[in-house]
Amino acid sequence: MKNLSCVIISDNNFAKVFNMEKRTERIGICGGTFDPIHNGHLIIAEEVREKFHLDKVLFIPSGMPPHKNLSGVTLPEYRYEMVCRAVSTNSHFEALDIEIKREGYTYTVDTLTALRQLLGEDTKLYYITGADVVLDLMTWKRFEEVFKLCEFIAVLRPGYKSEDFLERIEYLKLNYMAKINIAEASLIEISSTAIRDKVRRGCSVKYLVPENVEQYIAENDLYKV
Ligand code: ATP
Ligand code: MG
Repeated sequence: MKNLSCVIISDNNFAKVFNMEKRTERIGICGGTFDPIHNGHLIIAEEVREKFHLDKVLFIPSGMPPHKNLSGVTLPEYRYEMVCRAVSTNSHFEALDIEIKREGYTYTVDTLTALRQLLGEDTKLYYITGADVVLDLMTWKRFEEVFKLCEFIAVLRPGYKSEDFLERIEYLKLNYMAKINIAEASLIEISSTAIRDKVRRGCSVKYLVPENVEQYIAENDLYKV
């Protein structure tokens, strides 16, 4: 016979069963084109996850930008599949297809609103971005709403906190109640652009992307032209 107490304690709904206050979940969000996802993205996400005690990090590849014929961005299905493969070895990481399932380009504000509905008000959302992206936040669609929906984690190299950068963050905090955390982390010099370029030139991308992504790129002849 099953030991019932063990069954209950190992149940995910433990808190509910015992009517206890559930701890607020802390979810990280990594958005990007991910064309392709690379080890730079994964290293940062893992480092931030630990530092900020995040329960999960969701990787959300963007949908097709407007004028997709002109953009040269790889079809969403391929980019999503690479993200799925890349996150498959980390139980704290998850790939989400909510943006690629929508027609056209999806704005972060819509994604965050959808996540908020899905996860409820008790979940804390942390949007993880490179520091460069934080400087552009005021150009995002309905950015004031974005600031209400999530906190930001701006990742930058140790020692790169310039006066200018800190002033910009202070401005967003004071004027828009933005919550922006700074994470100093070991950024490595990888970009998707450089990876696409290497593949096109027939160079190796070993150790720049996970092995299963490297295989997928080769099997599907991505980035050859
Ligand atoms: P591309 O070269 O096509 O612009 P990318 O490598 O910059 O691609 P994106 O998909 O544009 O990747 O970026 C998604 C997110 O990852 C952004 O927040 C960006 O700041 C961050 N990011 C990009 N490269 C790195 C890296 N080497 N280390 C840490 N974060 C990165
Ligand atoms: Mg980029």
